[in-house]
Amino acid sequence: MTQTIMPLATSPFADDKLHEECGVFGILGHPDAAAHTALGLHALQHRGQESAGIVSTTGEQFYSHYGLGRVGDNFGKAEVIAELKGPAAIGHNRYSTTGRPEFRNIQPLFADLAFGGLSIAHNGNLTNAVALHTELVQHGSIFRSTSDTEVIIHLMAQSKSASVTDRLVDALRQVEGAYSLVALTEHAMIGVRDPHGVRPLVLGRLEDAYVLTSETVALDIIGADLVRDIQPGEMVLVQNGVVTSFKPFQSVPERFCVFEYIYFARPDSLVQGHSVYEARKAIGAELAREAPCNAQLVVPVPDSGVPAAIGFAAEASLPFELGIIRNHYVGRTFIEPTDQIRHLGVKLKHNANHRLLENKRIVLVDDSIVRGTTSTKIVEMVRSAGATEVHMRIASPPTMHSCFYGVDTPERDALLAAHNDTAQMAKLIGVDSLAFLTIDGLYRAMGESRRNPDAPQYCDACFTGDYPIALSDRDGGGLPAQLSLLTQNSS
Ligand code: SF4
Repeated sequence: MTQTIMPLATSPFADDKLHEECGVFGILGHPDAAAHTALGLHALQHRGQESAGIVSTTGEQFYSHYGLGRVGDNFGKAEVIAELKGPAAIGHNRYSTTGRPEFRNIQPLFADLAFGGLSIAHNGNLTNAVALHTELVQHGSIFRSTSDTEVIIHLMAQSKSASVTDRLVDALRQVEGAYSLVALTEHAMIGVRDPHGVRPLVLGRLEDAYVLTSETVALDIIGADLVRDIQPGEMVLVQNGVVTSFKPFQSVPERFCVFEYIYFARPDSLVQGHSVYEARKAIGAELAREAPCNAQLVVPVPDSGVPAAIGFAAEASLPFELGIIRNHYVGRTFIEPTDQIRHLGVKLKHNANHRLLENKRIVLVDDSIVRGTTSTKIVEMVRSAGATEVHMRIASPPTMHSCFYGVDTPERDALLAAHNDTAQMAKLIGVDSLAFLTIDGLYRAMGESRRNPDAPQYCDACFTGDYPIALSDRDGGGLPAQLSLLTQNSS
């Protein structure tokens, strides 16, 4: 057991969170397909901020536009949207993992295959992409990106099947990992979720058009109705105004990512029929029952800790106040994080509401602790504002393991909880007490039981190390765990 936080070069602009790597959106059958796709991607901006792309089609010709940065930076101009012609479009937001973002990895990817043009947008990560990539290259495939998603396109190109859906099934039967995909051909849109259903994907309807997207907030922004979630292992083909459903994979237990409820999804989304906001409040209430605290005031670490803190305060019958205010206008490109300003640390993003905190025993509620860097600074800030005691309650179990299913996670060594018990973490962060929600408490809050194998189970591997899908690349003798991580780092 070590007593020190692993040294990490942190940017004052970075938060101490795991990050989703992608959001996807597709629409078929609408005259303003590209404009609606840009709006949908805007609603999904929280799922990826480093690049965005849209591919559209008239049925004869494909059009595309890609850019580094946010959706508004790239699709805010009418002339850009006007160039993306046709009644069908798909789009993608990407959060590039470590290393610099690369233009060639911006999705949707596009390729001309034997049956015609194909574009794919992917949320997730393939856990055998490196092995497949190596094999494909040995057999002559030439890759244009370093993205795991391109493996799917090459496998489709090699398939002997006639239809595009059969080719996609052939490809997906060879991959392992997490994927929610939206694909576009000249005349059809396809959506598919991996057999475990790790990442979300929903079907919506807007007039005569169908929409496939990561979260319901992207339906709300364009006024589309939610039809239903795409089921784990389901493929849907949208063509000529008809949705056809297939179940082409062997059935396996569902393991939806529980972190979508804790942090990733927007609180105003419905995920698998559950309100994310209500789920977070229920998690906060369960935390208050499991780890009560003799405090005078509940203060959320904004923004992601807010719903859990509301649930905690209600259950504990304590007042809830916004004792920390977040500046929403700080971007990564605001100013270079030089050493001179690095010491300002978290104050660029958060400021204490002094009058509220003075002479009070505070309980801070946050959704998770990854490295512990932000928590340490926030606790310091709350103490300097005059709090007499600072307690911390975390609305998830300790994050002890890396994610390999499409979430940007530090190496395990950098995770605070991987090397420290709760008492040690409390000391390092500088709080009077610290408690995490237990894994059983998390399932209870979700209305499920982890101990009942017949009840729905989640992927909870970053808390438990119980990975539901094989990590073939990681376990395969020195291969990197995620294709894009290695190539980007080494470039
Ligand atoms: Fe979600 Fe964690 Fe599983 Fe990754 S490891 S899919 S973040 S629950």
